[in-house]
Amino acid sequence: MPNQPAPPARLVEHRATLLSALTAGLVLAGGWAFDAQLADQARHEQRLAAVSQLGAVRARVEGVINHNLGLVRGLIAFTASNPGITQGEFAAIAREVLAQRSQMRNVALARDMVITHIYPVEGNEAALGLDYRANPAQRAAALLARDTGSLVVAGPIDLVQGGSGFVGRAPIHVRNSGGSYFWGLAATVIDTDTFYEEAGLLDDGSMLRLALRGRDARGESGDVFFGEPEIFRRDPVTATVSLPYGSWQLGAEPQGGWLSSHPNAWQVRTAVLTIALLAAMLTFARARSADERRAGERKLATARATLAAAIEQTPAAILLADAPDGRLRTANTAALVLRRNPTAPLEHVPLAGYLEHWDLRRADGSPLDVEQLPLVAALREGVGSAGVEMIVTLGSGEQRWMMASAAPVHSPQGGIEAAVMVLSDITDIKEAEDQVRYRANFDPLTGLPNRSFFLEKLEDSIARSRRTKAMIALMYIDLDRFKNVNDTLGHDVGDLLLKEAARRIEATVRSTDTVARLGGDEFTVILNDLAQEDNVTVIADNITSEMARPFRILQHTIYSGASIGITLCPADGLEPQGLLKNADMAMYQAKDQGRNNFQYFTRAMTERAQRFVSIEKDLRRSLERGDFRLQYQPICRVADRSVVGIEALLRWQHPERGWTAPEQFISVAEETGMIIDLGEWVLRKACQDLAGRGLGSTEDECYLSVNVSSRQFRGGFGRRVVQRILEDSRFSPRRLQFEITESLLLDEDERTQRSLHDFRQLGIRLALDDFGTGFSSLGYLRKFPVGIIKIDRSFINGLGVVETDTHLVRAIIAMARGLGLSTVAEGVESEDQFRLLAEYGCEFAQGFFIGRPVDLDELEVPAPR
Ligand code: C2E
Ligand code: MG
Ligand code: MG
Repeated sequence: MPNQPAPPARLVEHRATLLSALTAGLVLAGGWAFDAQLADQARHEQRLAAVSQLGAVRARVEGVINHNLGLVRGLIAFTASNPGITQGEFAAIAREVLAQRSQMRNVALARDMVITHIYPVEGNEAALGLDYRANPAQRAAALLARDTGSLVVAGPIDLVQGGSGFVGRAPIHVRNSGGSYFWGLAATVIDTDTFYEEAGLLDDGSMLRLALRGRDARGESGDVFFGEPEIFRRDPVTATVSLPYGSWQLGAEPQGGWLSSHPNAWQVRTAVLTIALLAAMLTFARARSADERRAGERKLATARATLAAAIEQTPAAILLADAPDGRLRTANTAALVLRRNPTAPLEHVPLAGYLEHWDLRRADGSPLDVEQLPLVAALREGVGSAGVEMIVTLGSGEQRWMMASAAPVHSPQGGIEAAVMVLSDITDIKEAEDQVRYRANFDPLTGLPNRSFFLEKLEDSIARSRRTKAMIALMYIDLDRFKNVNDTLGHDVGDLLLKEAARRIEATVRSTDTVARLGGDEFTVILNDLAQEDNVTVIADNITSEMARPFRILQHTIYSGASIGITLCPADGLEPQGLLKNADMAMYQAKDQGRNNFQYFTRAMTERAQRFVSIEKDLRRSLERGDFRLQYQPICRVADRSVVGIEALLRWQHPERGWTAPEQFISVAEETGMIIDLGEWVLRKACQDLAGRGLGSTEDECYLSVNVSSRQFRGGFGRRVVQRILEDSRFSPRRLQFEITESLLLDEDERTQRSLHDFRQLGIRLALDDFGTGFSSLGYLRKFPVGIIKIDRSFINGLGVVETDTHLVRAIIAMARGLGLSTVAEGVESEDQFRLLAEYGCEFAQGFFIGRPVDLDELEVPAPR
């Protein structure tokens, strides 16, 4: 075989350059991909961190809002039970409210939408007498609060009294015998600047740049009212601030803007560049022909010295190992100090020897063998690797996260001669990641999973229960009186109470169950794999008794308790949000039952809530279509049984259920305000009907009695409306009677009073309906132009049978007579009742015994006397 001629020097040089460029290119490509991956990761981490910080901001904003609005609730409750609240009482409560670390500028009451009470008066004089309905800036929000029955936060707006603020308004409904009526609004102004400050939005130290949008609680579609609007255009992280009605949206970006690369990327980049350079140079050097070696060596020596310095200064550990067995040739200081004995000679030590005292694990915790390190693959197969993440326990016992990358070094012939491995310490990055993950999933106070993590777990539990067919239960736990503790003993005590409560709940359930804190004093528990429903009852019972035990917090003994709502899966549903809503609803039921107890969710609960909504919808439609009619019932004089009056009673043709009694829908109509239009329709229709039967013009005919709801008075039912109807139908006011309820008499609103007197002036009679079921204060009657009282049928029902009822009826008749009032007994059904009424001196009677309510065409119109 002829001798192979040596390749010409140019070719050698070419090949050397080519080989080293190839090596460097490979390493750089790997590095570039890794860098991009790192940048992605950095942005992801940055967003996660921002999300978690924003969560805290959101909690603070909601906290401040809820704290303030919560304080107003006391005022609402007081007014609802004392509709005649005086300026003095109001000022006392308002002073108390404003003293509670609030950001409120003032509190006000707007009876029937006009501001009648305000505290402090000084500086807010301009707001007194403000009619929300006449104020274009505030009208919509005020009506919204009235119509939705919810607390509505409007603004920020420029205030009539100067400055800017958020206005929170909530409707006040006063309960009476006939249900409840709309009294007016409670309103509070929260100063914008103080609010921003307290909510931490002005924090200089914040890592986030914040903006808030959703003026007037309009969520993401509302205007930006805090911060730079541009933030929302730069792909911010967002969080929804839930308001009692509607929401705001928080947007945030990091102070320094969104990252384009990983903050630690320079470390990795240096490492990659170093390897690329190193590998290229070594390859190049090897590839050079022997002739040029000497000249080259000098140059190379300088280059090597520079490189060695660079390698020395890199914070990453760099190791060079020979192929094929991986004995180490050299390492930088960072690599040496990782060893137990940094000064022990390293040359020719096998890789396994270097790692002798180390324990290597993959990111998932499984053991990692030396053979699986990228250096080994680089040596054996000549493939580089951008990075393997691993958990390293050093000989000292210290644990570090490291990333190992490696690249092969090729010989002039193209074979693999050695390989470089870089170990970068990524512990800081990993810890930051963990923290972000923790903060995003756990409640910092109690260490329990937070709402989002809880929902994830609930989803897992539901999925598992689907597979195993086992039942799960979801509990919604709300601490009793917690707000009280917070308000009176301070937030520190409140926080400790929450921690202790969390601990007690955790101690009551199994380790396979999940306890989470949704926020505030609300906890949830998922009970997995339940064999039977009884177990849930036992656990719920345990939790209630645990929570009823006094809590000793600092020097205080606190009695709290827990109200628990329970829902079962799959029985009550299979969808996390739905189940949560069920449990929440059941929790409210438990609170209604008198606290510290538990209630299971039942279909009836949702049905009740749904019924209200559906009746409201149907009523609206029926009002448009005219699906209402009237029936008429006679009222007679007891002495001779002659018919003296006729009461109009409303009937509703429900689209599905057919004719419906007023009890089913009047209260909904009142709450939604629909009674205003409906009531007008009743009056007009009744007048027209009876006029059509020839009634309503002469004095000696019987009168028409129409029920008027208290709510109508506040809706503008007064002289003008009534006069127009009477004129249109040619019905005489002297033949008309309005039946009102006792609650109306407690209404101190001037307009109500004025209307009542106007009606009397017109000659309309006023009768007090359902007497005995409300406040039953005869004393009140003297102050009002009422001439007749109608004794509620529940008393007549017991007449002659139940002793107390008999006495009561007798007493009412006697007292009324003493006050010069007439009495009508309602619901007279029997001869016996009728006889007794005659005996006691009751003037008039109404009921099935005399005549049932009938349609107009069946009505027997008595001849004029
Ligand atoms: P109310 O004003 O006390 O009307 C008397 C109710 O007692 C009527 O019930 C009537 O049908 C019923 N009733 C009459 N005699 C007897 C009897 O002998 N035995 C029994 N068990 N019941 C008798 P209805 O029609 O169901 O109305 C219930 C309530 O709904 C009314 O009580 C009134 O408060 C309200 N309502 C009815 N129509 C209107 C209306 O047009 N406007 C307003 N605001 N409320 C109305
Ligand atoms: Mg009536
Ligand atoms: Mg009645």
